[in-house]
Amino acid sequence: MNVAKSSSATATTGTVEAPSPYRGRFAPSPTGTLHFGSLVAAVASFLDARAAGGQWLVRIEDLDPPRERPGAADEILFTLHRLGLGWDGPVLRQSTRCDAYSAALEQLRRDGRIRDCCCARAALAALPQNARRAPGDDLFHPPACISRPAEGRMRQAFRFRVPDHDVEFRDRVQGTVRIDVGTTVGDFVLRRKDGLYAYQLAVVVDDEEQGITHVVRGADLLQSTPRQILLQRALGLRGLEYMHVPLAVNASGLKLSKSSDAPGLAAASSTLQIVAALEFLGQDPPEVLKAATADEVLAWGVSNWHPERFAGVASATAPA
Ligand code: GLU
Repeated sequence: MNVAKSSSATATTGTVEAPSPYRGRFAPSPTGTLHFGSLVAAVASFLDARAAGGQWLVRIEDLDPPRERPGAADEILFTLHRLGLGWDGPVLRQSTRCDAYSAALEQLRRDGRIRDCCCARAALAALPQNARRAPGDDLFHPPACISRPAEGRMRQAFRFRVPDHDVEFRDRVQGTVRIDVGTTVGDFVLRRKDGLYAYQLAVVVDDEEQGITHVVRGADLLQSTPRQILLQRALGLRGLEYMHVPLAVNASGLKLSKSSDAPGLAAASSTLQIVAALEFLGQDPPEVLKAATADEVLAWGVSNWHPERFAGVASATAPA
């Protein structure tokens, strides 16, 4: 298991454990209630942090009001609490962080890393490189803009000028990932035409703000990681450790999503929900745990955390 271990330091009074350098997080978008897929990400990031003696923080990624559902953020926090997934420190809400995103954009602009872009979405969508994109995927943007600004009318998006080389990183369970961002997504959006900041920028700025060291999240975000690494480097920020856990999919192989039809977690049994997440993650919880409390199941999960058991698994079907 490749998790950071707390190091020890010698003080005059003897040997003391230094605080663990591990800080993990769970960062849901409040587009609906938690479903099984987000439970898996929450449980995996919680167990990985606690097994390393680290902290676990929560961030509400409420950056995109049109996609949000009123009340969802509070419901998510309530569900985490009900499941016994207690977090450290205050919850960070991205809606309060626009000044920090603006400052990061300014820094990138000063460094010549921003492209002002007024390409119409429909024009980008018509490019052959975008023919196979799933709805919701970022559209590929070519090295040069394809729409010209109409005199004083067109609002602009701000994009990151992607360098012309592959990004390689080592995921703790998925292995080495190498992606050429320039040919797969191209110059990607940091601030949309409607003035909203993009996830890729916000996540990097906020992981830094919260002192995060380890990111544990669903494998659907594996493709985003190289973009985030490029931004960390451009902003002069620390690099992070990544682990992308298997994505829960439905019987048709589609990702469960809060905003679609994935059933929310019923208020019923916290114990059985956590046991189901442990089973999904290949942790093999003993049958007797089904009669235990949620806290006892989590304690078992912390002591028996083996991420290597889902190494190389990108997705798996959620229990019915
Ligand atoms: N907000 C994202 C989501 O709910 C997760 C972002 C992350 O973990 O980096 O899918």
